[in-house]
Amino acid sequence: MTPVDATAQPGQAPWTCPFCPLLCDSFGVALGPPGTPPSLTGSECPRARAALAAFGGAAATERPRVDGRDCDLDTALTAAASLLAASRQPLFGGLGTDVAGARALYALACETGAICDPARGAALMHGLRALQDRGGFSTTLAEVRTRADLIVCMTGEPTPRYPEFFRRCGVGEPEGARTEILPLHGDLFDTVALLAALVAGRLAADDARVPADLAALSERLHAARYAVLVYETGCLPAQGALIVEGIQRIVATLNRSTRAASLALGGDDGAATVNQVFAWLSGLPLRSRAGPAGLEHEPLCFDADRLLADGAVDLLLWVSSFGPQPALPPADLPRIVLGHPRMRLLQESEVFIPVSTPGIGSGGHLFRSDGSVLLPLRPLYDDGLPGVGEVVNRLTQAVRASRRGLAQ
Ligand code: SF4
Repeated sequence: MTPVDATAQPGQAPWTCPFCPLLCDSFGVALGPPGTPPSLTGSECPRARAALAAFGGAAATERPRVDGRDCDLDTALTAAASLLAASRQPLFGGLGTDVAGARALYALACETGAICDPARGAALMHGLRALQDRGGFSTTLAEVRTRADLIVCMTGEPTPRYPEFFRRCGVGEPEGARTEILPLHGDLFDTVALLAALVAGRLAADDARVPADLAALSERLHAARYAVLVYETGCLPAQGALIVEGIQRIVATLNRSTRAASLALGGDDGAATVNQVFAWLSGLPLRSRAGPAGLEHEPLCFDADRLLADGAVDLLLWVSSFGPQPALPPADLPRIVLGHPRMRLLQESEVFIPVSTPGIGSGGHLFRSDGSVLLPLRPLYDDGLPGVGEVVNRLTQAVRASRRGLAQ
């Protein structure tokens, strides 16, 4: 892994935006007087602007808390470690962190037998499930930009959630790809199945059951030099893996005569990165646990919402370093939060430790949504806070010490 350039000064270009998995790296940020949020330059991206508004452009003054009272970091770590050491089944949720944070969380999860599921874990599982079951053919943002001539958005317009997506793909430029939105006929399952049958020639375009716009889209997919089918994992319904498999079937059919690929947009708030790190460290994706029975991966049973609703866990460690969202879920059990400083007063928890935001107050690394590109994040300024990796590494040591103390 390439280390973050230690000689780079805070705020020095290039800046990589950490606020969605597109990781745009061609925009700038202007710093104002301390206390004012950094402002984005070169883009009107509303998502990045809203996220930057949660930062003050100066060292943070927020302190850790235990039971609602301010304390120092050592006291908070000791309190968190004793909660973790006493837990019989902890859950690590949110998981909004970078590579270093994920590596540290994996070690702590192994130490405590914790189940790990990111915020919106169900969305992450759709693509993983389809990949495990049937495999897939995907592409990168760079290849879409340089080679694709047709982009079909399978789950609607991606711009509201990923504002710079079309610009990243070169849409609107002289040689840029044409874009289409999949017209819905029935639900998404029905529509993708119909399109797959049309593309494979199992349904004739002049069949009375075939909507004319889907037949025309099938023709354009065959006529394209390089078609890319884009979908947002967060827009897929329950059992969305079946839709991903349908999309992959279309891609595979097209690849017999032309060129096509899929591109998933998802894994927000560090989820894609943590999933990659857990996969390379353990061989398993998220929704997994290193427990008494060895490594377990349970894509349905290890759903954080389900575990909390069923009372199947007795402690929640929530990580959200990129902003106050994703918010700590309400739950009647001890909660430890490693979060953005503004979470301090928003959400009551037994232990709160403010952590640095990679790409704002400290360096780091994140994987982009297309999975194969790991980008370094450079700080805009020093926020004076410890990173998730540092806090969790210390927590792991403290849990071990706490266990030794309990055993004596
Ligand atoms: S699209 Fe995503 S990565 Fe790009 S500037 Fe907006 S929030 Fe940042």
